[in-house]
Amino acid sequence: MAFTDRHPRTIIVAVVHMPTLAIARVLHEGNSFSPLQTPLTAFTTHEWHEGASAHAAYRGTNTELGGAIAWLDANPDWQPVFLRCTGAPSSGVLAPGVFDAIVAGITDGLAARRFDAVYLSLHGSLNAAEYPEADFELLRRVRAAIGDTVLAASFDLHANVRQEEADLLDVAVGYKCHPHTDMPETAIKALGLMARCVRKEIRPVSRLVKTGAILPSLFARTTDGPMAEVKRIAAAIEARAGLLDLTPYQGYAYADNIAAGATAWATADGDAAAAQGAAEELAAVMNAHRDGLFRDLPSASEGIASALARIAAGEGPVAVVDSADHTGAGGIGDTPGLLAALVAAKPSVPSAFAFFHDPALVARANEAGPGARLDVSFGGRLTALFGPPVRATVTVGHLSDGRFRNVGPVYGGLDVDLEGCARLDFVDLPIQVLVTGRCADTTDPDYWRVGGLDLAAISLVAAKAKNQFRACFGGHFRHMIDIDSPGPAAYDFSRFPFRHAARSLFPLSR
Ligand SMILES: [Zn+2]
Repeated sequence: MAFTDRHPRTIIVAVVHMPTLAIARVLHEGNSFSPLQTPLTAFTTHEWHEGASAHAAYRGTNTELGGAIAWLDANPDWQPVFLRCTGAPSSGVLAPGVFDAIVAGITDGLAARRFDAVYLSLHGSLNAAEYPEADFELLRRVRAAIGDTVLAASFDLHANVRQEEADLLDVAVGYKCHPHTDMPETAIKALGLMARCVRKEIRPVSRLVKTGAILPSLFARTTDGPMAEVKRIAAAIEARAGLLDLTPYQGYAYADNIAAGATAWATADGDAAAAQGAAEELAAVMNAHRDGLFRDLPSASEGIASALARIAAGEGPVAVVDSADHTGAGGIGDTPGLLAALVAAKPSVPSAFAFFHDPALVARANEAGPGARLDVSFGGRLTALFGPPVRATVTVGHLSDGRFRNVGPVYGGLDVDLEGCARLDFVDLPIQVLVTGRCADTTDPDYWRVGGLDLAAISLVAAKAKNQFRACFGGHFRHMIDIDSPGPAAYDFSRFPFRHAARSLFPLSR
């Protein structure tokens, strides 16, 4: 029997809906106590993509967007649109207008069409001159632009977060590792939950519990020590409670906003009580491990004295590490405390100091040429807050363009341009000082090589650096001594002029 004999002819066209996904990224950690604000060029010269350029730039990278692209490869039905994707190294708060300029590139794209879902790669400690809690403002604007579209985000483990942000999101996942080796996995997990949310397979509900403490990050690696234990217990709670995610956010101590402090963030499938219970349990675990993160650190002078004693005992080479001006935590490459202590100790062994960010001094050394003798000031150039400059008579020991490719285990393969590098040698002490045209991290063997320093010939290295330096040079130095000194990322931040964070937070309450 012909089907069409008794029925009107019907043509069924199967319309397969290809879900659309908007992707955007604003990755920046803003130090409220830096004397310098961050201009838009910090982003446009570092990481600034959209559309096809984003796809090409991030593919295969060890970043959230590298993870997102891998997820898209595995889920080819999803149609991505890359809106503004940007990031910059940790530094001071965004200068007026910078936040609006960046976020407009995202909200304009979201308003132009309707997507099935939106994924944001965020840090969580974004801090703008107009908006101390800038991630919240960003999420508020994005939510206003997309209505009830599914919104997912990933955060750095150093995010300062609170319930009001979670309420704007459908899905959020944070890094579990510090150092941050799990950025791609974090994005992949967020996107997987997002897709299940779009298909209405899950109904995520988040509950956040603040621990009541602002934590320093120096001893908070998740590879060993107290936070390794917290990470292990969090994974066990997540599995036992059947949660979609459970992240112990350590927070960022130098972002002064109302979300400051460590936070337990639990996401359950439709069960608010389960999320609340798990967040409370994890917050208690974090508090139980808190005190191990607060230690007594030697001063710069004590650290240098201890290093020289070890070298004299045949236990060199030794590194003295000052994280108070670490570029990765908003440092400015300008605090003079550690060099002042080194000079005062009058070392008799080959010593090297890195670094000062001083483009004018690099230019002056280049004009003078190799071997020229100069009277100079080191540090204290940008602010007098962290001590007076160290004055010295030096000779120009080595000059370079400061360009190199990282060869070490931490940033391997990444190109660096120091915008000029000068090694200036004290005339009366065996101290060599690196001065650079750009404020950049010291954590790579080729950083020192391009500066004209042979680490094998140096007994005492004094460096502005942090955890990653240990990961890179742990095999080279017999001892590494962490010190604390005045700086925008000083280990002891309890006396910093917090204006937005609650004074009841430990250790501000001490
Ligand atoms: Zn971080």
